[in-house]
Amino acid sequence: MGDALNKTLHKVYLIGAGPGDTDLITVKGAKILQQSDVVIYDYLVNLDILKKYANPKSELICADSLTLKRYSNGFSKRQDLINKLIIKKVKEGKKVVRLKNGDPFIFGRANEELKSLLDNKIKFVVIPGVTAATGASCFSGIPLTSRDVSSSVVFITGHQATERDMNWEAISKIDTIVIYMGAENLKDIFDKLIKSGIDSNKPVAIISNATKINQNIIISSLKKIDRIKAESPAIIIIGDVVKKEKYFNWFKKSKKILFTGLSEERFFEDGIYFHIPFIEIKPLSDYSHLKNILKEIETYDWIVFLSRYGVYYFFENLLNFGFDARILKNVKIAAIGSSTANRLKDYGILSDIKPKFETSLGLFEVLKDKIKNKKILLLRSDIADKGLEEKFKSAGAKVKRCVLYKNVIPKNIPELDLSIFDEIMFTSPSTVRNFYKIYKSIPSKIKIRCIGEVTYKEAKKYGFV
Ligand code: SAH
Repeated sequence: MGDALNKTLHKVYLIGAGPGDTDLITVKGAKILQQSDVVIYDYLVNLDILKKYANPKSELICADSLTLKRYSNGFSKRQDLINKLIIKKVKEGKKVVRLKNGDPFIFGRANEELKSLLDNKIKFVVIPGVTAATGASCFSGIPLTSRDVSSSVVFITGHQATERDMNWEAISKIDTIVIYMGAENLKDIFDKLIKSGIDSNKPVAIISNATKINQNIIISSLKKIDRIKAESPAIIIIGDVVKKEKYFNWFKKSKKILFTGLSEERFFEDGIYFHIPFIEIKPLSDYSHLKNILKEIETYDWIVFLSRYGVYYFFENLLNFGFDARILKNVKIAAIGSSTANRLKDYGILSDIKPKFETSLGLFEVLKDKIKNKKILLLRSDIADKGLEEKFKSAGAKVKRCVLYKNVIPKNIPELDLSIFDEIMFTSPSTVRNFYKIYKSIPSKIKIRCIGEVTYKEAKKYGFV
C-alpha cells in the first residue's frame, strides 16, 4: 500500500475502438494507445487495431478472458473482475486504456466501470468511437436519416428486449429503428414491433461484421424474417431507408482486392484494398557487418537501396553508430523506385538515378552502363533475389552485399474465405510463398496481379498464375 501511494496515479482512458475496420478508431484514440502501458480490451475489438496502434511494449489483456461466462449471471462477476483489474493496474502506476468496441457510451457498459473509478478517486477521460450503427449504415449504403423517408432514428438493444419493459409502442413510431445485440432474438423482437402496429412489410437489413472484410448484408422484411439466420455480430436496421441500399451499397458493388504487401494504402484507386501483409520486416540483432562497411564507405562508388526498409535500417544504424549523412558525400546513390527514393529524401539524400520501371530489371537497365569496374554496396533483406547481384557482376561491377533486415511470415494471418475477393495482389516473391504456406490454392475466378517479373515468376512456380 505504501508503495502504491508513492506512484503517480495516471488517469484511465476509456476509448471506443470503432466497429471493426482498423482505421475507424479516432486519431486521438490511436495516439493514446501508443502511449499506454496496459490495454484492457473487449472480445469484439479487432486485434489488428492493437497490433497497429498500441505501444508494442504494452500489456494486452482481453477482458473476456477474466471469466469464462460472458452472459447472464456471469456478467456482474466479470464486470467486478474488470473493475478490480483496472484499479490494480492504475495503482501500480501504469497508464491504462480500457478499449471498447464501437462507442464506449452506446451499449458499452461504461457506467459500472466509471462508477468504480469514481469510488476509487481515479480520474478518467472518455474518447468516442464510431458506433456499430453508423459503421453498418455507411458501409451498407443505408443512411439512418434521410429527408424523404426518415427524420427520426432510435438505437435499441435486442438483448434486454425480453428481460425489460421497453416502450414498443413508442419505438414502432420512429422512422428508422436500429437494433444492437439482436441477432439471436430476431423473431421475438419483430413480433413485438408488428404487434405494436408497424407494417409487417417494412424493409429490414441485417448487417453482420460491419466494416470488416467479411461484412455481409441480408435485405428482407419484418414478416419474412423467421427464415433468416443472422451471423453475429449484427446490426439490424428497420425502416424505409433500407430501400436505398440497392443504390448506395458501394461496399457490395466495389471490386475487392486483397493486398498482400506492406506498401502504403491505396484509397483512391479502383476497388477496395484490404491490407493483409503476408510479410513482416524485423531488424537484425547485430549490425556489426554494416558498421565495418561504414568505416570504409569512401571506397564504394555506388550504394543501391532496394526498399524503403533498407533506407530506414541503413540510416538509423548509421546515426546510432555516430555518423551522419555526410559520410556518403562521395558515393553515388541508387533507389529502386519512388517510395525508396522518398524515404531517402527524409534523410536528406536525393537518388542519383530514376529507373523507368520500378523493378530490379528496371534498376539494372539504368545502371548497367555506369558500373563497370565500380564498387557497389547492395543493401538488402535476408531473402532478396540474387539475380540483381549476378547482373551487376556480369556488367563488370564489384558487388558487396549487406543484409539489413529480416523478412518473416507474420503471426496470426487470418484464414479468410478467399471467394469474397475479386483480385489478389502479390508484391514480392515472399508474399507468394507465405500465401502458399497458408492457402495452398486460389479460387480460379480471382484475378492475380503481381508487382514485378520476379514476383510473377514465383506466382507461376506455385501455380497461382
Ligand atoms: N459499444 C458498441 C456496442 C456494443 S454491444 C458500439 O457502439 O458499437 C455489441 C453489439 O454491437 C453486437 O451485438 C452488435 O449488435 C453490434 N456490433 C458490434 N460490432 C459490430 C459489427 N462489426 N457489425 C455489426 N454489429 C456490430
